[in-house]
Amino acid sequence: MRYLSTRDVSGSLHTFSDILLAGLADDGGLYVPEYYPNIDTAQLDHWRVLLGTDGYAAVAADILRLFAPELADLEGICARAYNDSVFATPQIVPVSELHDGLWLAHLSEGPSAAFKDLAMQFLGQAFESELSRRGEVLNILGATSGDTGSSAEYAMLGRRGIRVFMLTPAGRMTPFQQAQMYSIQDPAIVNIAVDGVFDDCQDLVKAVSNDLEFKAAHHIGAVNSINWARVAAQVVYYTVGYLRVRPALGSADPVSFCVPTGNFGNILAGHVARQMGVPISKLILATNENNVLDEFFRTGVYRVRAATDVHATSSPSMDISKASNFERFIFDLFHHDAAKVRELFGDQLATQGYFDISMTAEFAAIPERYGFVSGSSTHADRLQAIRSVWETDAVMIDPHTADGVTVARRGRYPGPVIVTETALPVKFADTIEEALGRLPETPSRFAGIENLPRRVIDIPNDVEVLRKLIAAAT
Ligand SMILES: *Cc1c(COP(=O)(O)O)cnc(C)c1O
Repeated sequence: MRYLSTRDVSGSLHTFSDILLAGLADDGGLYVPEYYPNIDTAQLDHWRVLLGTDGYAAVAADILRLFAPELADLEGICARAYNDSVFATPQIVPVSELHDGLWLAHLSEGPSAAFKDLAMQFLGQAFESELSRRGEVLNILGATSGDTGSSAEYAMLGRRGIRVFMLTPAGRMTPFQQAQMYSIQDPAIVNIAVDGVFDDCQDLVKAVSNDLEFKAAHHIGAVNSINWARVAAQVVYYTVGYLRVRPALGSADPVSFCVPTGNFGNILAGHVARQMGVPISKLILATNENNVLDEFFRTGVYRVRAATDVHATSSPSMDISKASNFERFIFDLFHHDAAKVRELFGDQLATQGYFDISMTAEFAAIPERYGFVSGSSTHADRLQAIRSVWETDAVMIDPHTADGVTVARRGRYPGPVIVTETALPVKFADTIEEALGRLPETPSRFAGIENLPRRVIDIPNDVEVLRKLIAAAT
């Protein structure tokens, strides 16, 4: 298995180890596998049995071996990433059924209570293994408005050779999110609260990362959502979700997934699983008021929003102006035509802010060939979904999962629809209180977290101050 860039017309190939620690390709494209592995019913049955006997980690190692055949100690990496000292349940991703044909795939049982833990835990272990093989160290620099940062910190915590510098907008995350990050006492996890908003944090990261000399001297890297290894790790829970909902040996009856979507990272893994042969009927993409992707799947026009046009919603992890993983789907849609991807993303998007493929045969074929359908929801829809699931099923869902439930229900799809639960309600107490008139329960593993001592460095919105801080620590 080799990898290529979505914009490389020469199609040069790289190994998984090459791209594991890389971000964007030098040509501005994203790395993708040269083909998707094929799995059949016999393979699914094998994993069905393996899931029962050896559990999630064993299935994960089998699936990830298809993408990373040369990665050393993959079994060990998966065993350390997916076990019940890291996740709240030995099932890692349990499923449960709601009353109306909907299922929830519980992707939020990890240390930061968001689905990103499933990919990030793999990444932390794989990074450590690869860095030690190379004799290198890595200083991860990132900015977060919530879920990504805490997920990255918990995944990198204790990993040899890895330090994290995470910028957050001072006072702008939910109290639970602040507590989760700032209560980490390990000196290798450096929380930095910037006097500014999230965009300021991102600009600081860009300013430091664009200084190539500084970046190289201080071994600075990233863990952003375009990392292919994260997508590959997420293919596992689509497969396991399917196997848990369709447990009968020999079954190839499809299920559908409904996915609360921002940067298209989560649902892209569903697309990959479907292309590989996991029996998935529909991939239902749910957005909030920031409906860039719903608009694309309805109209064929992909129009990036200006930062000032991004709504601050009650499902904040889906508040995006563009979807950073979307290019990988377009690459597939146009049959790996890198010149076409360049034209759309490199030229048209860069110059006019949108591209329009509504008149192409490729766009017309999407629902049939790829199963994608989409919808969007509003704050009122979220509150209503949180309320109705609580009233009928006594299950509390978070506002992002509520976007998924809203869109899944509206479509009345045949067969089981699995909504991916992307976070726990405890992270978004205000919205839960607004919907239900009561606060979410705090899972026992987070009890008292808001009272722990905090470790965070306050800085002004000043790149020189950040640069000095990193230089002094590395
Ligand atoms: C990151 C995140 C999303 C969006 O996932 P993408 O991979 O960016 O589409 C949705 N919900 C929650 C809770 C998240 O943290």
